[in-house]
Amino acid sequence: MPVPGVPILEGKYPSTMDLYPLEAKEFNRVHQFYENLRQKRFTTTKCKKCGHVPFPPRVVCPQCNSDDLEWVDLPTRGKVLRFTEEVAGVPLGFDSPLIHALIDLGEGRKFVSRVINCKEGQLREGNEVQLAVFDVPPMIIEKKGGVMEEAERVFFAFEPVKK
Ligand SMILES: [Zn+2]
Repeated sequence: MPVPGVPILEGKYPSTMDLYPLEAKEFNRVHQFYENLRQKRFTTTKCKKCGHVPFPPRVVCPQCNSDDLEWVDLPTRGKVLRFTEEVAGVPLGFDSPLIHALIDLGEGRKFVSRVINCKEGQLREGNEVQLAVFDVPPMIIEKKGGVMEEAERVFFAFEPVKK
């Protein structure tokens, strides 16, 4: 059943992994993250006061509560530490295999992402993966004066580095 405010998802919307579905700058103070993604940059916020670099990006530093933050680039390549590969019973709207991996981006930064463009049984621990940016269905937003507008959206996953 469609959820109000969430577009029908056309097979690839990663609702389990999407941090902030409303990407438009009118609604989202980390919209810069998506602007950067469009340029194939994987970024987050760095606190200018204490130097903390959390992921996902924040509007307030979780360490010191400062809101004096700047955007910094993260590596776009990493190594697969562990992964799960679902081949049967994949949630509606996803293609099989549905792979989630714990990825090491270096410097102690580890996080979970989906791995796409990878066939069943192909991925191995230790494989190198790279950032992959793709479009997701746009969201209809209401701007000032009741003007309805389609807001384009992107999201990211990682994919195996072609050897
Ligand atoms: Zn801080």
